[in-house]
Amino acid sequence: MAETARVWVRNFVDGVFIEPDENAWYDNIDPATGASVGRVHTADATLVDRAVTAGRRAVTAWANTPVAERTALLRRAADRIEERFDEFVAAEIGDTGKPITQARTLDVRRAPQNFRSFADTVAAAGQESFITEIGDGRRALNYAVRKPLGVVAIIVPWNLPLLLLTWKVAPALACGNAVVVKPSEETPSTATLLAEVLAEVGLPPGVFNVVHGRGEVGELLTRHPGVAGVTFTGSSATGSRVMGAVAPRVRAVSFELGGKNAAVVFDDADLEETLNGLTRSIFTNTGQVCLCTERVYVQRGIFDAVAAGLTKRALGLTLGRPIDEATTTGPLISAAHREKVLRYFDLAQDAGAEVLVGGGVPEVGAELDGGSWIEPTLWTGLTNDAAAVREEIFGPVAALIPFDDENEAIALANDTDYGLAASVWTNDLRRGHRVAQAMDVGMSWVNTWFLRDLRSPFGGMGLSGLGREGGASSLHFYTEPTNVCVQL
Ligand code: NDP
Repeated sequence: MAETARVWVRNFVDGVFIEPDENAWYDNIDPATGASVGRVHTADATLVDRAVTAGRRAVTAWANTPVAERTALLRRAADRIEERFDEFVAAEIGDTGKPITQARTLDVRRAPQNFRSFADTVAAAGQESFITEIGDGRRALNYAVRKPLGVVAIIVPWNLPLLLLTWKVAPALACGNAVVVKPSEETPSTATLLAEVLAEVGLPPGVFNVVHGRGEVGELLTRHPGVAGVTFTGSSATGSRVMGAVAPRVRAVSFELGGKNAAVVFDDADLEETLNGLTRSIFTNTGQVCLCTERVYVQRGIFDAVAAGLTKRALGLTLGRPIDEATTTGPLISAAHREKVLRYFDLAQDAGAEVLVGGGVPEVGAELDGGSWIEPTLWTGLTNDAAAVREEIFGPVAALIPFDDENEAIALANDTDYGLAASVWTNDLRRGHRVAQAMDVGMSWVNTWFLRDLRSPFGGMGLSGLGREGGASSLHFYTEPTNVCVQL
């Protein structure tokens, strides 16, 4: 262990990896075993300032680089990630404990897709223009020129580290910004690997910088006067703090925050397909996806069948070593997060939940004893008043609640402070559209879940966020328009 504990995860500023400081580091813990897999060099105010200053120095030349060159570089980055695919997978697994099959098919697979999709979007983007009739046959031409913001701070969480990071880095760079990235303290490794890749494909020094550390480092970044915009994915509570930090300077912000997402299952749904879809939506990434379903409203006639089918599938999940191909479910990200989830297990019991499956800490084998393992868990017997049904738990857990008719289902699903995602399961085409549109959320799926077209808007309302990213929505966030009006 002493050997591996000396592997350093470094900060990357102005095109170079910074020599780590023996007095400023923390252990990078593998949540599958609880063991340290390396040391992370914690940035301080001076290093954060150096990163922002490097970005400001580099951004003008990068913004003036032709779009064709910028997008070609992003495509080379996508190719290079694919060449170094296994390294990214290993880094993501070491930080998160997630199953290798998921790291390959979801997390790392999406990184090159993000780079290519935003290269396409920016390459094809036009500008708004209007001919204005002034009167007396006179006209004016209005056109908007979109300019990059400058240095953008990118702050991301630990659940899908590379996926969520590249989701923001790709459009920011494609639009001509420089970035300073602050990954979650729990998952620093893939951001550091991405720095290597971007240097390898020739991104100029200073355009991409990474600073590591806990929340304080994120806060230093959001308060830095040289930062022109902040894009943040994380919890609603931290999002609110970031909003306070940027308020004095009125900076552009984009927030992708928490969720308490509902699934609505009608009695005409295809049962098999629905059960498989719900299993994915509740348990993917051990429930640690902002889009995961934690509330399942089921029409009363099929309630028992859905409860039994989901229970069977939960029992069929395989917890185990991340590198085993058969493993479907990893640990939670940390011991502290497990404490939080277990608190909700207690709260649910106090509120009268009946535990269909799970509810505790599993036996996963001696080698994994020190990990943050938790049982996939399903409850019945709760109502919308219970804390476990109102608050985001962010674990492999859902409450099943019956309803009688469509209006009641919509009211129950919308009875939340969050507004990120929903799924509707029905074979009635008209009802599918109707109910999906009636959901007060940013994203509504019918007979599927987490099926993404990267050109479509992503984000939430209420406590779930502010603004949208994806396709043209990202272009809007990562640029500022200057409208020019010319009298003709
Ligand atoms: P946090 O809000 O705790 O942290 C997110 C990031 O913000 C981390 O990098 C964190 O650093 C940093 N941070 C913490 N405090 C501050 C601060 N005061 N100023 C600036 N940055 C700060 O979220 P988690 O990492 O726990 O991630 C889970 C949350 O993310 C869930 O609520 C989930 O729903 C949400 N999420 C939302 C998504 C969406 O698209 N809507 C997608 C994925 C997740 P550090 O790690 O060091 O604390």
